[in-house]
Amino acid sequence: MQLHAGCHGQHGASPAPGEDRGAPRDRGSAPCATASPRPRAGSRRAHQGARHILGSVVAPPRFVVQLHDATTLHFDFRLQSGEVLRSWAVPKGPSLDPGVRRLAVPVEDHSLAAGEFEGVHDGQRRGSGTVIIWDEGTADIVRDEPGHLSFILHGRKLSGGFALTRTGPKRWILVKVRDEAARAGSDIVAEHPASVRSGKTWRQLRDESKITSRLALSGCAPIP
Ligand code: MN
Repeated sequence: MQLHAGCHGQHGASPAPGEDRGAPRDRGSAPCATASPRPRAGSRRAHQGARHILGSVVAPPRFVVQLHDATTLHFDFRLQSGEVLRSWAVPKGPSLDPGVRRLAVPVEDHSLAAGEFEGVHDGQRRGSGTVIIWDEGTADIVRDEPGHLSFILHGRKLSGGFALTRTGPKRWILVKVRDEAARAGSDIVAEHPASVRSGKTWRQLRDESKITSRLALSGCAPIP
């Protein structure tokens, strides 16, 4: 695919505060190797919005927004480009209000598998901590140029047009395009804090994980 044309600025960039350079590629708790399987042929995503290009069925790019409680709480916005997820750390998360500009710090590409992760990363390293899948879906790429991307999201919480524009060496801005899906004055992050996969907040997931590991240490099975 051709989405890498606009990739400047992320390679060689330092991680954002609280971001997780290196950690997602560790062969530890998270399934994060760069070579990762495409969506399963029978999966919902493989069929959703699939389109025919030159006779073959091509799934549209996927997007995922993960809420990550690392050194600081932040959102990771990830947009599929071929076999990787281009990634930005968005400290305050996305907004549906077109008047709101959100800082988005480019970070290294992540594997498709990393975008499937929800749970608690073990360890003390950066990138550890609790992750929930805050939103996910497919994206139609409208423009992909160096320093500028625009796309239409089809998620559970985020929909309609968005734009990511580079404004500095390690600094992009994420904004909602003015369209029917825009909601001035809304705060989608506060209104819908929970995971679209499990329905849990990151705090619930973290606390459950603590209980589970305590029970495991004491030799008791967790209550289902
Ligand atoms: Mn992160």
